[in-house]
Amino acid sequence: GKNMSEIISGKIISAQINRELRQEVDQLKTKGIEPCLAVVLVGEDPASEVYVRNKKRTCEEIGIRSIGHNLPDTTTQEELETLVQNLNSDPVVHGILCQFPLPGDLDETQVIQTISPEKDVDGLHPMNAGLIAMGQPRFISCTPYGVLQMLKRSGISTSGKNAVVLGRSNLVGRPIATLLSSKGWDSTVTVCHSRTADLAEVTSKADILIAAIGIPEFVTKNMVKKGAVVIDVGINRIDDPSKTKGSRLVGDVAFEEVENKASFISPVPGGVGPMTIAMLMVNTVNASRWQNGLAEMNL
Ligand code: NAD
Repeated sequence: GKNMSEIISGKIISAQINRELRQEVDQLKTKGIEPCLAVVLVGEDPASEVYVRNKKRTCEEIGIRSIGHNLPDTTTQEELETLVQNLNSDPVVHGILCQFPLPGDLDETQVIQTISPEKDVDGLHPMNAGLIAMGQPRFISCTPYGVLQMLKRSGISTSGKNAVVLGRSNLVGRPIATLLSSKGWDSTVTVCHSRTADLAEVTSKADILIAAIGIPEFVTKNMVKKGAVVIDVGINRIDDPSKTKGSRLVGDVAFEEVENKASFISPVPGGVGPMTIAMLMVNTVNASRWQNGLAEMNL
């Protein structure tokens, strides 16, 4: 019969992490610590508004205080950086999240570098990227962190395995590759990108395949080794006249055909997506712990 694979549900795993966080936050509150996330949104991009709403709602579910700062799209670089500096020095605020993309000519790199590395819960500041590269991570950016937790909580051993990461972005591919090759995870990692030769040949050797390229259903079954673990980071909207919306979300992996070849596979939606918000919450709770002289949570 069909050799169905096990589904790695980010929905279920993130719900579990959120439950653990709730207990943790209750504990912190008995010590007089209320974890607090500042959420900065510039302009009115509809997708960004949805993300920000979901982040604030998850804060509320867990008991984290969120403080929203909604700025008009006429905001200048200087005004935005002044807000970030004020949040840096506000002792009530433990974490700062600035929703990207920024509208107009606003410079994201400059904003990231303005956020205090101690409050950079998105893990994007060069200091935090550097700490990951040195094997001493502080804040791990939320999507890579979510991928690691999906592997760990599904009981997948990474040590000595061949891991292939498709994509080398600073946000996703690069930190995942760095982390999987670091001590404790101990995979042998290959990073593939748009210039990689014989891509299918490389991916076919992967025990663990992470797809983060942003091309709908790019990874087909001929590119996957039988029994591989496949994590799909991609979120792509494609036309689908059969849906009321006229479109639907798919990942970077052709799920239906790869499902029968993989041992584990994460779906889209309901995979890495919900993990990303949960890990933002973890980083915010850890920020509040560190800023109060406590050790990080043990996840
Ligand atoms: P990006 O565009 O910054 O990077 C894409 C990477 O893919 C690049 O490094 C590029 O070299 C590589 N690439 C492009 N074409 C390729 C090809 N033909 N073969 C091999 N490599 C190729 O994208 P990103 O920010 O890293 O995001 C990747 C995907 O993950 C997108 O679909 C994005 O929507 C999704 N994403 C999901 C989450 C989440 O929460 N699940 C978070 C961030 C990004």
